[in-house]
Amino acid sequence: MLPRRPTRQVVVGDSRVGFVRIGGGLPMRDGTPTEPAPVSVQTMTAGYTHDIEACVREINKLAAAGADIVRVAVPEKKDTEALREIIQRVRVPIVADVHFHFQRALEAIEAGVHKIRLNPGNISDRAQVAEVIRACKAKGLPIRVGVNEGSIIERRDKQKRMKELGAVFSQHKHGYMLAIMIAKLEEYLDVFYEEDFYDVTISAKSMDAAMVVDAYTEISKRFDHPLHLGVTHAGPKETGCIRSVAALSGLLVNGIGDTIRISYANDPIYEVQDGLELLYSLGLRTRKGVDLIACPTCGRIQVDLFTLVQDVRTQLADTVTVPMKVAVMGCIVNGPGEAEGADVAVFAGDRRGIIYVQGEKVANVPEAEILPRLLAECMGFQDRVLRGEAKLGEKKVEITPPDPLGELGSGWERVAAGLVEKPATLTVGKT
Ligand code: SF4
Repeated sequence: MLPRRPTRQVVVGDSRVGFVRIGGGLPMRDGTPTEPAPVSVQTMTAGYTHDIEACVREINKLAAAGADIVRVAVPEKKDTEALREIIQRVRVPIVADVHFHFQRALEAIEAGVHKIRLNPGNISDRAQVAEVIRACKAKGLPIRVGVNEGSIIERRDKQKRMKELGAVFSQHKHGYMLAIMIAKLEEYLDVFYEEDFYDVTISAKSMDAAMVVDAYTEISKRFDHPLHLGVTHAGPKETGCIRSVAALSGLLVNGIGDTIRISYANDPIYEVQDGLELLYSLGLRTRKGVDLIACPTCGRIQVDLFTLVQDVRTQLADTVTVPMKVAVMGCIVNGPGEAEGADVAVFAGDRRGIIYVQGEKVANVPEAEILPRLLAECMGFQDRVLRGEAKLGEKKVEITPPDPLGELGSGWERVAAGLVEKPATLTVGKT
């Protein structure tokens, strides 16, 4: 992991919903030093903004799932009119996503929104852009300049632009498009700098993961504004997840990116969950809640582990707030080794499971009782952590692999029938 690229920090929010810092590491314009803020997770509501009740419900659900910032679409005046009430009823900074009509931006600012997103591809009139900038400046609001590949005007004149600009980035597969994006950004940001406005974040999304990596890499060399990463139109969750993680992790490990949005053709709650998981996995955010380890299963499995893992995941997601490690292992072959760092672990056997808390065996239960007992042990362990009686990640004893033919299964019957011999030693750590 490379250190985070220093940027000019932007602050989104107010004293009621809280402030979210994006980027940092360079001094503010008044000289105040800043530290890079944790990479934040954004998402966007899928419903109509003018449906106030549904919109408030959706925003609150996304915030509860961990979204740091939520964006809403404001295509019509009735959407910006709804914003005033929506903003008063939520506890997370709200961004108005503005396309085509600069008036929507002005209305959203008036309604109390915390940030504006402008698309240079469809609001390009300098006077209109300057009017939005001045309105934001008066209220201390930042603006995201988002140049999506699909909406930049010059794309329609591809051949000509390829010839003109492609040479600039000839080493890149997407040279012509990179050149257009950067030229568009430079031209657009000129208006901001003329207005002495620097509270800017930048995004340059594409549906092509490699293009996203190239675009943000080039942009990071040219601008010191915080970068909002994302793959646009990434598709359904199943494939969009891979596409987004491929692009975003490639950038994040190189220190590029200050806020992220994963986008799926699905419920945005998954965007928040997967965005957070990506940041946890890279160590860019401190985990909240369970870190679940589970084996992929194989021919040794003797319980319904897929269902068990999903049930553990969903039930602990709502109840556990401390970052405890929980391991759900299909058998004892690799179980003890793989679950070594787990605070709570279960190793399944022949329709049974043995449960450990910090290395200490606490139960040996039939399959039907694994889930409730495991959940109860997790809750009990969390209570002890919160009371200061236990420490996360502190293993008390080495996990000794259980006897596979004895307490984990019905092996004794087979041994008794002379069908199997009890192994003298059990090899742990090799599948
Ligand atoms: S060997 Fe055991 S722990 Fe490893 S994948 Fe198979 S069932 Fe899971």
